[in-house]
Amino acid sequence: MVFNEDHEILRRSIRDFVSKEITPRIEEWEEKQIIPRDLFRRMGDLGFLGLSYPEEYGGQGGDYLSNIVLAEELARCGAGGVGMAVGVQTGMATPPIFKFGTEDQKKNYLVPAIRGEKIACLGITEPNAGSDVASIQTTAVKAGDRWVINGRKIFITNGVNADFILLLARTGREKGYRGMSIFLVDKNTPGFTVSRKLDKMGMRCSDTAELLFEDCEIPGGNLVGEEGRGFFQIMWELQGERIIGAANAVGRAQAAFEEAVRYARQRSQFGKPLAQFQVIRHYLAEMATDLEAARQLVYSVAWAFQNGDYPVREISMAKLFAAQAAFRVVDRALQIHGGYGYMMEYPVQRYWRDIRLSRIGGGTDEVMREIIAKELDL
Ligand SMILES: Cc1cc2nc3c(=O)[nH]c(=O)nc-3n(C[C@H](O)[C@H](O)[C@H](O)COP(=O)(O)OP(=O)(O)OC[C@H]3O[C@@H](n4cnc5c(N)ncnc54)[C@H](O)[C@@H]3O)c2cc1C
Repeated sequence: MVFNEDHEILRRSIRDFVSKEITPRIEEWEEKQIIPRDLFRRMGDLGFLGLSYPEEYGGQGGDYLSNIVLAEELARCGAGGVGMAVGVQTGMATPPIFKFGTEDQKKNYLVPAIRGEKIACLGITEPNAGSDVASIQTTAVKAGDRWVINGRKIFITNGVNADFILLLARTGREKGYRGMSIFLVDKNTPGFTVSRKLDKMGMRCSDTAELLFEDCEIPGGNLVGEEGRGFFQIMWELQGERIIGAANAVGRAQAAFEEAVRYARQRSQFGKPLAQFQVIRHYLAEMATDLEAARQLVYSVAWAFQNGDYPVREISMAKLFAAQAAFRVVDRALQIHGGYGYMMEYPVQRYWRDIRLSRIGGGTDEVMREIIAKELDL
């Protein structure tokens, strides 16, 4: 077991918070397709947005595994969009500021993000560049001591709510992965607009936006890390993102599994509960096995990542396996519910709609297989 007593205390306090302050509100957020800003403020006050950041920046000084606890417990609220929105804030858009940013950038962006005063989003994907990150077209051109940004980003989680964007743009003439850099762009910068709020089949409470940059001028000091190293910095970010996303997917599949067990015990057909039919018992046994295997793989890469390793191959395997296992489990959970599973009044339909994204976001199944094959020198 990778968790210690501190993690278990943290787990209990997040679980209590989720059941009292998130679960009762998810229907409303799903309906409105947005999470209110007050959730971020409240989580910031409780210290949940800076679990693994040092105390000098307002964090809790915990380890990387604390983020896994957060991802698993947020999954229990029943709406995947919550874990995704919070995960972008804590585990995707802010880690590069902490790792590569200046003290000023940490003061102006990381600290308010940890407090929940500023909401963050991460802008990588573009209409013509999804899996192929190296082909992004958004440019940042130096003009004196400023940068001028032009381009478009799509599918950006928290894009509507966000106060700032951690943005990947092209800064050099080189093609491919060379000549990219990352920047911090404030929402109020002239030339920046949220051009569209996108409508999704799942993860509905998490807002997703298309962002437009038209001669958007930012200060020179908003370049994060070294000019030209953006691609590698983002690849580092994606490793952490994949571990957190995988943990959250397993957590959601676990919740759907528990719904299926409850339902199978309570629903009778042919004179006995579904849970007494061998077919259903074997479904549940297989689902529990999938969950355990995925969870152990995620824990093992999280442990390695926390201890300074950079196991790209195993992280990709964990992301691929967890997404597929979670998808299988949730699909079976819906099947066990029969026609009721297809009804909006049963929670399993939302788990099913939400889980599909795990095989696409943060790198698709196919891209994970490509990375694994490359790492195997095939
Ligand atoms: C709800 C949602 C939230 C998101 N949030 C964010 C966010 O916050 N920030 C952000 O930057 N991005 C975000 N994304 C974008 C996400 O990371 C991309 O959708 C994903 O990387 C795939 O890119 P694409 O959609 O352009 O698909 P494409 O790259 O066009 O792929 C289409 C299909 O082709 C396959 N394919 C592509 N290349 C290969 C290949 N070489 N070999 C085999 N198959 C291949 C893919 O696996 C996929 O099946 C989000 C997406 C969604 C849907």
